[in-house]
Order: sequence, then structure tokens, then C-alpha cells
Amino acid sequence: MKSANVAVIGAGLGGLAVGIRLAAEGCRVRVFEKNGRVGGLLGSTERGGFLFNLGAEIVTAPFLFDQLFESVGRRRVDYFKLIETVPIFQALFPNGRRFAFYPTQEETLSLNVFWEESDQGALKTYLEENAVNFDSLFFDYCGRVVDERFLAFRNNAWFRRLDVNQSCYELGKKTFAAPELGALFGFWPLLSGGDPRRSSRLFALLPELFLRWGATVPIGGMNRIVDSMAQLFQEMGGEIRLNAAVQNIQIMNKRATGVRLRDGSIQQADIVISDVDTLTTYRELIDSDRTKYESVRLAQERTPGMSAFVYFIGTKEILPERISLAGTNILFPENYEAYLDDVFRWGTLPDDPLIWFRIPTKTLPDQAPAGNESIIAIVPVPNTLGGRVNWAQQSYAYRDLILKRLGSLFSVDIRSLIATEFYIDPNGLAGRVGSYAGALMSSLPELRRDGQLRLSNRSKDIERLYLVGAGAHPGGSIPGVLLGAENTAEMIKIDFA
Ligand SMILES: Cc1cc2nc3c(=O)[nH]c(=O)nc-3n(C[C@H](O)[C@H](O)[C@H](O)COP(=O)(O)OP(=O)(O)OC[C@H]3O[C@@H](n4cnc5c(N)ncnc54)[C@H](O)[C@@H]3O)c2cc1C
Repeated sequence: MKSANVAVIGAGLGGLAVGIRLAAEGCRVRVFEKNGRVGGLLGSTERGGFLFNLGAEIVTAPFLFDQLFESVGRRRVDYFKLIETVPIFQALFPNGRRFAFYPTQEETLSLNVFWEESDQGALKTYLEENAVNFDSLFFDYCGRVVDERFLAFRNNAWFRRLDVNQSCYELGKKTFAAPELGALFGFWPLLSGGDPRRSSRLFALLPELFLRWGATVPIGGMNRIVDSMAQLFQEMGGEIRLNAAVQNIQIMNKRATGVRLRDGSIQQADIVISDVDTLTTYRELIDSDRTKYESVRLAQERTPGMSAFVYFIGTKEILPERISLAGTNILFPENYEAYLDDVFRWGTLPDDPLIWFRIPTKTLPDQAPAGNESIIAIVPVPNTLGGRVNWAQQSYAYRDLILKRLGSLFSVDIRSLIATEFYIDPNGLAGRVGSYAGALMSSLPELRRDGQLRLSNRSKDIERLYLVGAGAHPGGSIPGVLLGAENTAEMIKIDFA
């Protein structure tokens, strides 16, 4: 293990995190990244004096970064700083109702208006039950290697008692009398690319993540985080090769032996770790008869999750604010069911979409020129698999629709205030990080897959091939990917002890 030669495909969060841990153990680790910079979906860009985060904005469970840096003898605060956003998020409904989620249960229960009397008590019970169940989910389920011990855990009493086959959407509807709260507290799977109606209620434990550790944003943008990680990786002796796309994984006698780069060169390795979307990895990067492998078949059975249209706006003025919009804002559509059907059933472009948007300058005014404001709107839309949306033709009109919805919220014509703007559609997302069908977080979380069980961090039948990142156990988002990278490094240590 100590002198193992490791090839990591992709310098996204997962690739860098696992690389840091293995390099610190003394392995020779090389990361091959197809793009000209590190970070994958984590990154930021500057346009006309505005700083925009290109994908993820919010860091939850920041202690996982602290632990990663501490595990190799460093302090995270010496590399990058995080600042809290309050409220954490706020839901805005078409009938004018709104509900905000604060860093403590007490604030959330006392600072909101409950439209139905029973809902305050219902929310208290919902959050208290979450607090009890959360440790098992986060530390035992997510923070654990998927192997035989994990399978035993799946059969344990806690897991079975939780009725993981109930959908998150159903749980929300049953718990709350007000339909708005039902929709909001059943909405969480959308953050992982899944249909709330067909994703496990395990996702309902997500608000506890916010209550325990808050929601933070990095000062200086997401590039600060990924550049810090790249620096740390190099300090541990790791090597990063940019503009080095991997063509395929070399396999001999069912064992990964290295990678072939697109320039034709072969890079031998004792261990190969892919941070590329697991669906892309198994469907496109396996360089031998794919039908031979059960792990490939398992990946092929999976459907990619939804994608997103991400729209970035810099305005010439500060937006008029009727209500505080400091956190993440979730603007619900008039007909939520029809919207979910458009995205997950018909694969068509919703004309009344759910929009989650942030105004980063409300927390960090320095991220725009003085007197200006930035807005980032993320609209969950169908992945590109069905091919029913022609993004080349429809993107511009879609941007218009988002402007109208946001404009009516602010009672202002945002079009007249635009200083700079750009957007990334599902094809852009797929091109940027190689995600299959432009899926936001790899495969669709589905009820029939034991809640949200993802593909294992160790290939079932291709020896010495490991997987990290949003598509592998335990799943997407910054905390999920960091836990998965830690699990994988641990697994490799055990496998090669
Ligand atoms: C719009 C959006 C908003 C989000 N918001 C949040 C948020 O607020 N909070 C949160 O916690 N999470 C959020 N997420 C999710 C989070 O960003 C991701 O789950 C996480 O960054 C994924 O990391 P990853 O390791 O899976 O790798 P990716 O980011 O997918 O990186 C994979 C890397 O592999 C490289 N690569 C691909 N193919 C090849 C190849 N053939 N050869 C070499 N390199 C290759 C890519 O270029 C890329 O650098 C958001 C995601 C999106 C898209």
C-alpha cells in the first residue's frame, strides 16, 4: 500500500479528497484531469467584476473539510474561510406564503407563521425524530464503506423501522396539514437529482444537516476551496496533470492496470480510482468487453437523475427587497405535480418551473462591484436522455422565463438592470464534467434501490478499480462526496494492508 502507484481520473472534489488521503499515506498519486483547471462542479468565475460560483454554493457539514485537513496535519482555516448564511433557506409559494428555515429548531418554530394550527407541533415532532435518526444515517450509513458489514447494517432494526420505502413526498404530505409545508418538507430529493415522489424518506433527514452544522459559503468563491485542496494534495507529494483526459481504463484479467490518455499514452497504475460520474465510468471508460462485468450491468440498469439549467445574472443596481432573501430561496411553481411530471415523467421543459436562487451579494457584497448585485438561479430540468428539449434553440427563451418570474417577485424588470449574464444548460453541464446525460448528481435516487443506495466505492468485479464522487456511495453534495472519499481511502488501506 505504502508505495502503491495510484491513478485518479478527475480532479473534482472526490478525486482531490481521496488523492490527499492516499498521498499522505505514502502512495504515489497522479490525478488526470481533462479540463484546464481543478474542481469539476466546484468552481467560480469572474465576469465584469462579479464573482459567480459555477455549481455548488453552499457548504454544509464544514467539519468534514476540517477533518480532512487535520488528517494530514494541516488546519483548514489556514487555507480557506467559510461564512454562515442566515436564514439557511426560504420557500416562496405562488399564493404569497413563505416559510424560512433558520439555524436552530427554536427559531424555525418561533419565527414562522403556521397557516394550520397543528403544523407547528407536527414540525417539532418531524425535526425531533430527524435528530434521533440522523446519526445512524450520516455516520453509519453514509460514513461507511459499502461492503458486507454495511449490508448487515441495512437489515438492522433502525433501518427497517424507518420504512425507507415510503417516499419523501408522501411523508411531507402526511405530516403537514398545509400543502405548502407538505411540498417543502418532501422536496429534499430534488437536491440530489431525484423525484421526491419516488425517492426514499431518508432524504427527509437532510434538514438536520442544516440544524447541526448550518450552511456556509466560502469567502473568495469555490475556487478557493478547490485550489486549497489541490495545493494540499501537492504538498502531500501528489501530482496533477491538467488537460489530460482519460480515454479509458486499462483492464487485464479483470484487474485495472492503469489508464490510457486521449493523447495515446498509457499510464500504468496499481490502483485506479474514478471520480468521473459512475454511469460514465462504467458505460464509457471500461476498455474491454463490457458485457463481462456485473458492475457494468448494474450501472447500465440505472437511470440518470435530473439535470439543471443554471443562470447567472449581475445587476447594475441593488434589487428592491420586500423580504429578506439572504439564504437559498426556493420559488415553488403554481402546479408542483405538473412540474415534477415534466421533469421526471415526460422529459419536457417545464413552463412553470421550480426555481431555487441565491443572491450571493446579500451575504458577501464584495462579490460584485459596489452598488451591484449578483443572482444565481438553478432550475431542475430533465436530463438529456429523452432528447425532448432542444437546448440550442430553447435556452435563451428559458432565461427570459426565469427573468419574468424573478422580476415579478422583486416587482422590477430585471432585464433593464442586467450588467452581465450567462447560463449553463444540461449539455454544458455534461460537457464540463462528463456527467452522463447531463445528470446533476449521477444516477436517479429510486425507492427500489434500497432507499438511496448508490454504486459501491469498490467495483464488484473489476479488481483494483474504485469509485468516488457523486455517483458512488454515499452520493452527491459536498458532504456526501467527502465521506465517500474517506470511505474509499479507508477501504483501499484495508484491501492492501
Ligand atoms: C448547479 C449545482 C449546484 C450544486 N449546489 C450544491 C451545493 O450548494 N452544496 C453541495 O453540497 N453540493 C452542491 N452540488 C453538488 C456538488 O457540486 C457535487 O456533488 C460535487 O461537486 C461532485 O463532485 P465529484 O467529485 O463527484 O466530481 P465532479 O465535480 O463531477 O468532477 C469530476 C471531474 O472529473 C473530470 N473528468 C471527467 N471525465 C474525465 C476524463 N475522461 N478524464 C479526466 N478527467 C475527467 C471532470 O472534468 C471533473 O473535474 C451542486 C451541483 C450542481 C451541478
